[in-house]
Amino acid sequence: MSVAIHWFRRDLRIADNTALNAAVAAHDQVVPVFVLSKWQRDHDWCGAARQEFLCGCLASLAKNLEAKGGRLIIREGPADAALEKLIRETGATAIHFARDPDPYGRAMEARVATMVQRLGVTVHPHQDHALHERDEVLTGSGTPFRVFTPYARAWLKLDKPTHGRTFARLSTPPEIVSLALPTLATWGLTSDVKIIEPGEAAARKRLGRFLDGPVFDYGTLRDIPVAENTSRLSQDLRWGLLSIREIYARCTELAVRGNEAQRRSIGIWINELIWREFYFHVLWHTPEVLDHEFQPDCRALKWRDHWRPGKRSGGAEFQRWCAGQTGFPIVDAGMRQLAATGFMHNRVRMIVAMFLTKDLHIWWMHGESWFMRRLVDGEIASNNGGWQWSASTGTDAAPYFRIQNPWSQTKRFDPDGDYIRRWVPELRDVSGPRLCAPPGPGLPIAKGYPLPMVDHVAARDAALDMFRRE
Ligand SMILES: Cc1cc2nc3c(=O)[nH]c(=O)nc-3n(C[C@H](O)[C@H](O)[C@H](O)COP(=O)(O)OP(=O)(O)OC[C@H]3O[C@@H](n4cnc5c(N)ncnc54)[C@H](O)[C@@H]3O)c2cc1C
Repeated sequence: MSVAIHWFRRDLRIADNTALNAAVAAHDQVVPVFVLSKWQRDHDWCGAARQEFLCGCLASLAKNLEAKGGRLIIREGPADAALEKLIRETGATAIHFARDPDPYGRAMEARVATMVQRLGVTVHPHQDHALHERDEVLTGSGTPFRVFTPYARAWLKLDKPTHGRTFARLSTPPEIVSLALPTLATWGLTSDVKIIEPGEAAARKRLGRFLDGPVFDYGTLRDIPVAENTSRLSQDLRWGLLSIREIYARCTELAVRGNEAQRRSIGIWINELIWREFYFHVLWHTPEVLDHEFQPDCRALKWRDHWRPGKRSGGAEFQRWCAGQTGFPIVDAGMRQLAATGFMHNRVRMIVAMFLTKDLHIWWMHGESWFMRRLVDGEIASNNGGWQWSASTGTDAAPYFRIQNPWSQTKRFDPDGDYIRRWVPELRDVSGPRLCAPPGPGLPIAKGYPLPMVDHVAARDAALDMFRRE
């Protein structure tokens, strides 16, 4: 009997799972294991909502594996130590896993590779999270891209990997001991966030719903938060509940059958998937973006709260931003949507991020950290990319002098105030136009709602000064 381990990480599905398929194809028995990490208890990027989503995904994965005749094994500890123990218990001769796009995951892969070499076990890392990984998309001279548009052009030209069939049956040795499925208590966390439904089946439903209609209007409605016309698949891609190869293939089929406007809209959506892979690419080639600004000449900017978030978080202004009490309705609506659901619409993410950096002049790392703690879809690469873009310090960063005005952004993207009223109950009775312009001096927009904490025009000028001084 040959036995292999499939190490589940952020590929929590059975459909078209490259590494799992390979393990099942090559071995009589497979031990599918997820290792609970202590990192998730100790690191300040750990978020209860994301962990709750993970717990739900693991429960659903366990059921799906059982339906195929297998069993999900849960272990805990540093993954290399837990996997070594499992190899000794099972006599496994191979270990399969999907490569992680971030440096923390890669550091553990290196430790696992060293450990299995010592034991004489073969290690099989697979590509799964991205259509194109690491060094596949490079400039003509073989260097990484530093700007999105040429990267996207090169990405689109490459042949795409196709999706495969899901294995029919899986056999797991019966005697292997497993911990119970985790709950939030496993990490000493609690949450009152109303998260989106976790698990592979729920993700497939979301994908089906999106491709059945909203994708055709994506090009026109994607920036309107209240329309809720985006795919809502970010957490599913973050946790690998869906195969990116299958998503791409289904989009391509739709585009072939669709009319020109539909094809255009699908293309705009695929462009977002390319952004995701671009930020993986950036993080792979310049992992130091997690420590400082991508653009070297932005590293000496004099931000407020210019210390690394962690034990010490930002000051009082930062706390008001976190709590959605800035007095800027669109900003507060976004921050409250995030608090209530662990999600925020992309357009609003840009608005709140630009507000923190350009109106409050607070170091983007505090916002990055707050988002990682709150987002169900918290993705290290995209989050860092989004924050550095908004702070004008990143790859394709918004030029520093193009500072969004939260009031005119409201007028463009939530002119009737429906999104704002949904998330800020104090503004329930306020009309759309009143939410699109600052109130008069000393006059709150509504009773119980704070005055704007800064004057946007003055704050904007101060931000421009800060950048010009560099
Ligand atoms: C400051 C900031 C922080 C962000 N943090 C994250 C994060 O932690 N995790 C995350 O997945 N996205 C992040 N984004 C990108 C984007 O906001 C979300 O991916 C999107 O809102 C998710 O909603 P959706 O699934 O409905 O997206 P759709 O609009 O339907 O897009 C489809 C998919 O494309 C990807 N995508 C879309 N926009 C982007 C983008 N700008 N950059 C990278 N990938 C993108 C996502 O995987 C998304 O699910 C951030 C953006 C900003 C401005």
